[in-house]
Amino acid sequence: MTEQVFRLIPATQNYPWGKKGSSSLAAQLADGAGIPDFKIDESQPYAEMWMGTHPNAPTRVHSTGQLLSEHLAVHPELVGQSVIKRFGLENGQIPFLFKVMSFDKALPVQIHLDRHTAERVHSENPRAYVADSNHNPEMVLALSDFGALCGFLPTFQVSEFLSFVPEFASLFTPDIIAHFTSVVRSPDESERKSALKDLFSCYAQVDKEEAVAQLKRLVERYQAGKESDKEKIVKSLVLQLHDMYPDDSGVFCAFILNYFDFKPGHAFSVATGEPHAYITGDIIECMATSDNTIPLAFSSHLDVPTFLTNVAYNPTPGKSLIQPTMFTRGSTHTSGSLLYNPPIDELAVMQVIVAKGGVESHHKLRGPSIAVVVEGEGAVVWAEGAKRLGVRKGQVVFIAAGTEVKYSAFETAFKLYRAFVEVA
Ligand SMILES: [Zn+2]
Repeated sequence: MTEQVFRLIPATQNYPWGKKGSSSLAAQLADGAGIPDFKIDESQPYAEMWMGTHPNAPTRVHSTGQLLSEHLAVHPELVGQSVIKRFGLENGQIPFLFKVMSFDKALPVQIHLDRHTAERVHSENPRAYVADSNHNPEMVLALSDFGALCGFLPTFQVSEFLSFVPEFASLFTPDIIAHFTSVVRSPDESERKSALKDLFSCYAQVDKEEAVAQLKRLVERYQAGKESDKEKIVKSLVLQLHDMYPDDSGVFCAFILNYFDFKPGHAFSVATGEPHAYITGDIIECMATSDNTIPLAFSSHLDVPTFLTNVAYNPTPGKSLIQPTMFTRGSTHTSGSLLYNPPIDELAVMQVIVAKGGVESHHKLRGPSIAVVVEGEGAVVWAEGAKRLGVRKGQVVFIAAGTEVKYSAFETAFKLYRAFVEVA
């Protein structure tokens, strides 16, 4: 017999792009999570707090210190047979990996693989960034202002940059530029994609020293205020990325990929092969249980061949956001629960806000959940009111499949995010 709701101990990942010390939301939450011996070091970056069963930074059960995966292996009813069967889960794994991320330096420009390719690449050559054989679709939910590069710019925009940014144009041979420019407005989409592929492949394999020399020239020109009118929109991004990675030709991605300024509450999913780099912000990220990323830039471990083989050339002027809906299933009391349901089978995320003195109810979900409190304090109540667990900022709880829960706030409001999976 085990409880259906119990506290977890998450794990942190101190990647160098994390915000430093207590300015990092991931560190603040980890500080409240009850991680043994955890103390914020103000000189250290705290990039991510992980909640899930991935072996690279596994979560433990708070009361026993046992790995969550070991506990779930013994108690598969907490995950639920339908989920175990649907995803072929073994060894107490759950299908999703839930993260809070906090960074003020860009993460590597990367793509994710589909499952078939991940399996192949992992078995042929298990490397740090293909650490498992799973695919890695992810959704992101902004908790603060959040800057990110995501997807290819429309080809006509790239060709404009080629025409008025000489340092960028110098990375390509004249025939590549001539061909690209001649087809950017072609009605034939496959022709445009193929020209983008030629151009991008050339960029990804450019002589790094030459590219960094051109980058220096570009940055000096921008710093001297000698940008043309058309460059004004991209100048601050170039300078920002250059500040972060002064010797990295990845800065030129500013002329190839879409930049977005997301606001709190904005959420989106990332498609297989879609290039992206998160730059600054605090976010919730939820992905299939995988740590596979194929980096192209802003990293010391690049895999340009695998990146180029698997990147998807789908230029688009915008990014479609996930529209949250009110989660009302069994929610008899209030309407403080917003559901973000991405087109990813393994996961969905709810934002739950309980007003001071209020109660929010969630009917049974047909799969496991992990919830993290990001503000305030309150209680999670289950077993028809017979059981209750006080929770506050940073604390993480597991909620078993088939468990109806209520969240109660007392003196203060509280806010949590609940990641879960259900099989229809
Ligand atoms: Zn990613």
